[in-house]
Amino acid sequence: MSLHTYLLGGAVFDESEEYFRFQFRFLFLILLFGAFSSILFLVSHLTGANILPSAHIVATKYHIVANFLLAALLYGRKKAFYPVAWLALTFSFVMFMSALLLVPDDPLRVLWFFLNLPAVYLLLGRLVGLGATALSAACIIIGNHYLKTPYPPNAIATSIVGFLYLSVFFYSYSSRPISYFHRMLESNEKLRFLANHDPLTGLLNARTYSEVCERMTCTATREGKSFSVLFVDLDHFKAINDTYGHEAGDTVLKEVAACMVGTSRFCDVYGRIGGEEFSICLPETDRAGAVVLAEKLRKHIELLMPVIKGGPVRITASIGVASNAAGHTSFTDIQRTADQAMYHAKRQGRNRVSCIDEHLTAG
Ligand code: GH3
Ligand code: MG
Ligand code: MG
Repeated sequence: MSLHTYLLGGAVFDESEEYFRFQFRFLFLILLFGAFSSILFLVSHLTGANILPSAHIVATKYHIVANFLLAALLYGRKKAFYPVAWLALTFSFVMFMSALLLVPDDPLRVLWFFLNLPAVYLLLGRLVGLGATALSAACIIIGNHYLKTPYPPNAIATSIVGFLYLSVFFYSYSSRPISYFHRMLESNEKLRFLANHDPLTGLLNARTYSEVCERMTCTATREGKSFSVLFVDLDHFKAINDTYGHEAGDTVLKEVAACMVGTSRFCDVYGRIGGEEFSICLPETDRAGAVVLAEKLRKHIELLMPVIKGGPVRITASIGVASNAAGHTSFTDIQRTADQAMYHAKRQGRNRVSCIDEHLTAG
């Protein structure tokens, strides 16, 4: 198991949760390192290397126990993230106040407040970061009045200005990774769409269509369910291009694709296989059901009458049907049979549905 996987405790994050995954891991690290640094202070106190007041040692012990408990609570639990983050950062703040008020011999203890701020911004966001800035600055100023030996005004001014500087820096920085991440997700989504779809019709391209259908065929075969494929080829499409131009041909292809999507069911899958060739995959549909759907689609395409150069043009299609009932186990086999059935329809005179598995024809 890699360190990353260990820090996630088996919690699963999808692509949209990439940033949350980072925050989750970061919080886990903070808890472990917080406990580790408090253990170091405790050990240095016990060995006499760095004697601390007993009241602060009590706070240090509580901090160690609290961090380990919170880490255990967080481990593998995405839902625990926000409560654990709030508690962890609050406990750290209490520790820093304890150091400020109870460890007078340490002139650098005010630095502790600086440590918490980036974590607040990264884990809980900008608003909480601003709140933590105001609270910490107020606590440093007010706490200073109660110290036996207060920090001189110069030191307080430096620490407050430095603290504000850090806060402004993180205020503007903390939103950047999130907006970059969202922009990256959007471009990934666009790239994925372009890689999987035909740009003209918006249907799946041949490669993706085959991959999706191959998986669906496996599932259907394993579950013993029926499964059919329609192979659609427009009739004399070259004549449309030759008569009205390529652009008009593109318009027809788009309208036919939209007609196919409108005629089929939600679970059906459509692909543009070639220039004017389409395929539709029909899960849980036997051959008879597929022939009925193919006939409905053939009629819809014939009635489509797209308007080209001011007038309606009749478009027809030849449709081949094949299903897994004929003993085909792979999608490639079924698709090939549907293709052959489509050529059969062409030979029979076009504008018809053909099913060569059982020499069942219609139209
Ligand atoms: P058949 O009835 O035998 O299928 O005849 P057909 O003319 O439809 O078939 P053929 O294979 O001879 O011609 C297909 C035409 O489809 C040729 C090609 O120019 C055209 N085509 C292929 N891709 C596109 C495209 O993206 N846009 C346009 N407008 N035409 C295309
Ligand atoms: Mg054709
Ligand atoms: Mg063709």
